[in-house]
Amino acid sequence: VRGLDLIKRPRINKGMAFSLRERQLLGIHGLLPPAFMNQDQQATRVITNLRQQPNDLARYVQLNALQDRNEKLFYRVLCDHVEELMPIVYTPTVGLACQKFGFIYRNPKGVYITINDNCPEKIYDILSNWPESDVRAIVVTDGERILGLGDLGAYGMGIPVGKLSLYVALAGIQPQWCLPVMIDVGTDNQELLDDPFYIGLRKKRVRGAEYDKLIDNFMKAAVKRYGQDTLIQFEDFGNKNAFRLLDKYKDKYCTFNDDIQGTASVAVAGLLAATRITKRPMADEKILFFGAGEASLGIALLTVMQMQKDGLSFEEACNRIYLIDSKGLIVKSRTDLTDGHKIHFAKDLPPTKSLIENVKSIKPSILIGAATIGGAFNEEVIRTMGELNKRPIIFALSNPTSKAECTAEAAYSITNGRAIFASGSPFDPVTVNGQKFYPGQGNNSYIFPGVALGTILCGVRHVGDEHFLLASRTVADLVTEKHLSEGRLYPPLTDVREISVKIAVAIAEMCYKDGTASHYPEPSNKEKFIREQIYDTTYGQFLPDTYDWPEEDMKSG
Ligand code: NAP
Ligand code: MN
Repeated sequence: VRGLDLIKRPRINKGMAFSLRERQLLGIHGLLPPAFMNQDQQATRVITNLRQQPNDLARYVQLNALQDRNEKLFYRVLCDHVEELMPIVYTPTVGLACQKFGFIYRNPKGVYITINDNCPEKIYDILSNWPESDVRAIVVTDGERILGLGDLGAYGMGIPVGKLSLYVALAGIQPQWCLPVMIDVGTDNQELLDDPFYIGLRKKRVRGAEYDKLIDNFMKAAVKRYGQDTLIQFEDFGNKNAFRLLDKYKDKYCTFNDDIQGTASVAVAGLLAATRITKRPMADEKILFFGAGEASLGIALLTVMQMQKDGLSFEEACNRIYLIDSKGLIVKSRTDLTDGHKIHFAKDLPPTKSLIENVKSIKPSILIGAATIGGAFNEEVIRTMGELNKRPIIFALSNPTSKAECTAEAAYSITNGRAIFASGSPFDPVTVNGQKFYPGQGNNSYIFPGVALGTILCGVRHVGDEHFLLASRTVADLVTEKHLSEGRLYPPLTDVREISVKIAVAIAEMCYKDGTASHYPEPSNKEKFIREQIYDTTYGQFLPDTYDWPEEDMKSG
């Protein structure tokens, strides 16, 4: 590539950081302002500019434009300011961006596959239009349950784009290996159907056999194009499809669902850290879930796996876990539990609906909320948990902050600082009786980038609950005693890149041992092998290395 084309390619462009020699030799001299800037200066300029923007959506748009212009600089700024910018490129701002996607849409990022393209050859052709052929990770959504915002149809494309930016920024996965995919089968969101600027198919969601065939064709085309070990992450699918598709594909493809397994992993990491405070094995806990959807059932199933490692049978473990859904406690007398995983946890108890009644009769040591009912853990619920337990474990996972089951303040103050608390949305530290508590944020970003990194680099054929439980343990082990004494159940989010490497190394160790890693030869030093392949935001050199031959060999005539 030479000339203007070079400056227009975000993957290699370095703006005013091109040297004079590069500008002259590459045919871009005079196309850039005469001054030179290094990446440090550019990064300072970008973050200063961002901070001056009127709001987070404006910051999202700016970052998005930077990604289209100069990819290395985009990731450099993101990596330098992980805590500040994660809420912009991902939740909560990305949600707002998705809602306004039609207006802020500029350059295409990723691939759209629709119900009108429903055969393997057509989908293969679409994938072949994507300019990168060495794709190793796909994040795919059908836009039906975007964050907590519901059906956003094709506007949901912002989610795979955002998640893959985190693959790169938080785990150092190469951006050219990442492909965002939107499966457009229509939307049931009437507002979008009526919106003249809507960017997707203007029809109601296609469901049933035709939908299943499309997903099937997509899976087949994706591995035909990129190989059987391509990692395919499902993201923000509706509850029914999420579980169904996971069960259908988890042993046939290298695939996982972050809303189920990623959430489960980060929550179980928090629980494992909590058990370091209570000094009990997980198998001794009794857990009550408020909500029985993707998050709760995912956590419940992974907890069962951990309890089995502690020596319980599957049934014994399930017996220690209780769930409440929109119809009340999950009990054997209910007739609506036939499909899905709720049935494992059904109890021989009366079908009590009230949360407080259930807390009083079940006497859980852990209470976890993921029903998106803000304030459901009221004073009486928290007080009762405090009466039942010396150190009650309370997780309020629903997002956004306004939907949290309780605030950090309520959990700590009502229990006099005895609660072990974590939440889905971030809360500020709370001081009770002169002691400062730092609530943990069970952010999925602790988990999925590292799992993806290990999986991709080792060519792991299947990624499953074992890998996610390993990731939970890795994260829980990184919590120091000092963190625990301050109420922190997670390591600082600023350490996430290092955490990702640790998870990837743990996965590599496990997968070479159990024979599921397909990358050969087996690297003798797994950590070195992984670190060497981490994405580097330093600009590339464009001038060829030149060297001389012996004088007499270069002579002519
Ligand atoms: P979901 O699959 O839609 O599940 C919601 C569950 O809540 C369903 O089981 C539903 O019951 C139940 N529910 C609804 N109203 C209820 C009520 N009045 N009383 C009791 N239960 C009720 O959603 P999800 O993916 O699990 O997500 C749930 C929440 O967790 C969201 O707020 C999400 O933001 C949050 N979350 C947090 C994290 C994190 O912290 N890292 C990760 C993922 C999700 P039915 O089964 O009867 O419909
Ligand atoms: Mn999600």
